[in-house]
Amino acid sequence: MEPDCSCDLMVVGAGMAGMAAALFASSRGLSVAQAGALGGIDFSTGMLDLLGMHPVEELHAVDNPWQGLEALRRDEPHHPYGLVPDADVRAAFEDFTAFLAEAGLPYDGYADRNARVLTSLGTVKPTYRAPCSMWPGVQAMERKLPCLIIDFIGLKGFSGRQIVEVRGPEWPGLRSVRIPFPGCAGELYPEHLAWSLTEMDVVDWLAESVAEHVQDAQAVGFPAVLGPYAAPASTASSTASVGAASSGLYDVIARLRERLGVEIFEIPTMPPSIAGLRLRAAFETFLPGRGVRIYPQKRVAEWERTDNGGFRFHIAGAGEGDIEAVVEARGAILAGGRFFGKGLTADRHAVHEPLFGLPVLQPKHRDEWHREDFFDARGHPLNRTGVEVDARLRPLSENGHPAFPNLFAAGSILANQDWMRAKCGAGLAIATAYAAVQSYQNSLS
Ligand SMILES: Cc1cc2nc3c(=O)[nH]c(=O)nc-3n(C[C@H](O)[C@H](O)[C@H](O)COP(=O)(O)OP(=O)(O)OC[C@H]3O[C@@H](n4cnc5c(N)ncnc54)[C@H](O)[C@@H]3O)c2cc1C
Repeated sequence: MEPDCSCDLMVVGAGMAGMAAALFASSRGLSVAQAGALGGIDFSTGMLDLLGMHPVEELHAVDNPWQGLEALRRDEPHHPYGLVPDADVRAAFEDFTAFLAEAGLPYDGYADRNARVLTSLGTVKPTYRAPCSMWPGVQAMERKLPCLIIDFIGLKGFSGRQIVEVRGPEWPGLRSVRIPFPGCAGELYPEHLAWSLTEMDVVDWLAESVAEHVQDAQAVGFPAVLGPYAAPASTASSTASVGAASSGLYDVIARLRERLGVEIFEIPTMPPSIAGLRLRAAFETFLPGRGVRIYPQKRVAEWERTDNGGFRFHIAGAGEGDIEAVVEARGAILAGGRFFGKGLTADRHAVHEPLFGLPVLQPKHRDEWHREDFFDARGHPLNRTGVEVDARLRPLSENGHPAFPNLFAAGSILANQDWMRAKCGAGLAIATAYAAVQSYQNSLS
């Protein structure tokens, strides 16, 4: 089969690490192809955590993530954050958030401390960068401003009452009200609400329903359903993937702010997360304009080496055994994630990396995968399994040397880290993607 595309770099994976790698590589002028299906990005809260917890066994929340990283690198010398210096982590975050701002999804945060973001359970999540749609909530909570939480009858997994019960003792001005969503009854789904709000009439209707409850509130928080995408309306409406809708997230927020006369903010919902879907939409809409050839919702089924030392990737089609396209690339970044993205798979005996057959660092026996106590503060060894890499992010073969000179790895597939417990999911993905692209580019010279 003739190659559909010949490029410098193939990115395997379309989660946070794959998106970041495709972005960083295209920004450096490399030609890039990317394939991948569902990833954590689709379920993520939209927040970009750098490091929220260390040491995890002490459940110690990190205030200054840069000091946290220093401690983490000292305490866990094999952690992949040890492969990326602070200056590169900072540069990676800057490039990543600058792209998202251009795509209509601006972020905010503090230079040297984590922000505290309210969740739908009333807990507080430390994060390094939060979508601007959530930022007034961060400030309202910090300043303990009189604040109203809006909860919709029929929306599961979001309880204004619970938020007030949990936070109320330290935030006396916090109230909630449960109202019907305009024109809807029965069970409500976040996607449906988000798409309804692309109609300004519905936004105005919502503002009318909320107005009588605002009273002394200086900020009003809504579940994060204020629009399915956030791309600038002019750009978004011309792209098929987001449709020809009339208003984006920040149009909705501006209208509600104008109608209600108070700050408006979003509170992340449980998965499925509209904030995560906005991230995917931003990448899938704007990466092709930067020259990235995307194979959305497609997986790499097989690969082989080419005569010149590159790779030929076979991208699976819809039917069993179908190959839809062939991509030839000089090098590749493996960002396949762990079990959720199927970058790692497990049978009754061992954990495997199914695409390249790379060795996976893991406990010797299956009965060591989990600790006896599910809530053991140290976490489970299975959640630290993954692919080991050298200092240039190249996966190692059995003999401890790089498996290929031009294969790099990034994100949660990397061994020696438990991103979920350390609350460093996006940060680790973005930082290691940056380092992997840099190593790939250095390998060309
Ligand atoms: C419910 C949830 C909430 C989260 N919330 C946050 C949060 O608040 N803050 C934060 O910082 N992070 C959060 N994350 C984490 C974050 O979104 C990422 O999951 C994490 O950073 C890992 O990203 P990844 O790209 O390494 O892997 P994944 O997200 O798992 O992506 C792996 C990708 O590789 C693809 N893939 C695998 N094998 C192949 C193949 N053979 N061919 C092609 N593609 C392949 C998959 O289809 C997928 O696209 C959350 C994750 C989840 C699941």
